Amino acid sequence: MDRQTEYVLRAVEERNVRFIRLWFTDVQGFLKSVAMAPAELEGAFAEGTGFDGSSIEGYARVYEADMIARPDPSTFQLLPWRTQANTARMLCDIKLPDGSPAPADPRHVLKRALNKAADMGFTFYCHPEIEFFLFKAPLVPGEPPVPLDTAGYFDHTTMDDGTDFRRDAVMMLEEMGISVEFSHHESAPGQHEIDLRYADALSMADNIMTFRVVVREIAASQNIVASFMPKPFTDAPGSGMHTHMSLFEGDHNVFYDASDEVRLSKIGRQFVAGLLTHAREITAVTNQWVNSYKRLTGGGEAPAYVCWGRNNRSALVRVPLFKPNKSSSARVEYRAIDSACNPYLAYALLLNAGLDGITRELELPEEAEDDVWALTERERKALGINSLPRSLGAAIAAMESSELVADTLGEHVFEYFLRNKRAEFEEYRRQVTPFELREHLPSL
Ligand code: GLN
Ligand code: MG
Ligand code: MG
Ligand code: MG
Repeated sequence: MDRQTEYVLRAVEERNVRFIRLWFTDVQGFLKSVAMAPAELEGAFAEGTGFDGSSIEGYARVYEADMIARPDPSTFQLLPWRTQANTARMLCDIKLPDGSPAPADPRHVLKRALNKAADMGFTFYCHPEIEFFLFKAPLVPGEPPVPLDTAGYFDHTTMDDGTDFRRDAVMMLEEMGISVEFSHHESAPGQHEIDLRYADALSMADNIMTFRVVVREIAASQNIVASFMPKPFTDAPGSGMHTHMSLFEGDHNVFYDASDEVRLSKIGRQFVAGLLTHAREITAVTNQWVNSYKRLTGGGEAPAYVCWGRNNRSALVRVPLFKPNKSSSARVEYRAIDSACNPYLAYALLLNAGLDGITRELELPEEAEDDVWALTERERKALGINSLPRSLGAAIAAMESSELVADTLGEHVFEYFLRNKRAEFEEYRRQVTPFELREHLPSL
């Protein structure tokens, strides 16, 4: 038994833990949980816990439904909001009965990509800026949601519920071992942002799953509704999950080059070139809902075109220069990804897109200096600037023929994802919307 496993068994006993929740994620990025009695824990570490995978989105067909959850002891944490009976959680790796990784397990998809990076000598670090909305409860069917406040970007508000909410969320995240770097009010009414301190991509994807639970738990306890919906309002910005990324070789940030104007090394430039090359193909995953595309329409500081820039907030990839002389802080920021994605799958794709740029030594195109939203279609064309997919349907079409996405997700997830998203888009296509009724029946 390794030391981490021993530590968990001891902690469960000493802290009188009554329930252990085993967490894993379905292909769409929803958290699944099964609670286990402490007496079962040793067996679960040794052999895993069996469950029927056939009802989990994207996992198995009915005739091959048996799955095994293996808790990862390094993710053991007490859940601060379960105060009546001590409850802890661990993230799990999902296996098939023969012990091989379940192809549908998003954590496995990310681990596979991280192993590839490790073979190239790299550790992949991420730092997300997670945006979300707080609404008044209850939501009324057929009515738009009502934001909890009317403040704006970085507004300091006195004694309001949103400020207290952020404080509570930050404290609870820290209690669970998740470090928070910043938190502030975002541009839209009721919109907030919490930025997590950088960590390796696997820990970060686990942290993002935990983050969503924490935010929802606190909201429920305060009779507020929290939502990661990408674009709840037509006329207010949506919720992105801009992610800052860097590759390290040991302690050395390989994206940093002190002699470069933007402090970006050749490897860093190739990584960005890879992101730009594959951006259209990976968007169905980084922005996986019909609603995601309402955010990427050119405005609200969300990108709509495939280009990079330094301080250009209309660009898809930004190279921030907050601390030009600090090598450890050199990173690139991918701005399309939204708060409702599956972080395991999205980070696996961002990493592999970037690595492909390095492997193929792709050339970074010219930096976009202008506000690309303000250019005409022709001007953008002349500059070689493509648009991101304009709908989930267009994103699916771009993904279908992508070798990079098929290789990264593996055949099972790739096929399931496409099937699932085609069905969602077809269902959406059938809808007659209030917009159409207003256009055709103005008196409505
Ligand atoms: N909400 C914006 C988006 O959707 C980002 C705003 C910002 O953080 N600058 O991407
Ligand atoms: Mg921010
Ligand atoms: Mg923001
Ligand atoms: Mg940002």
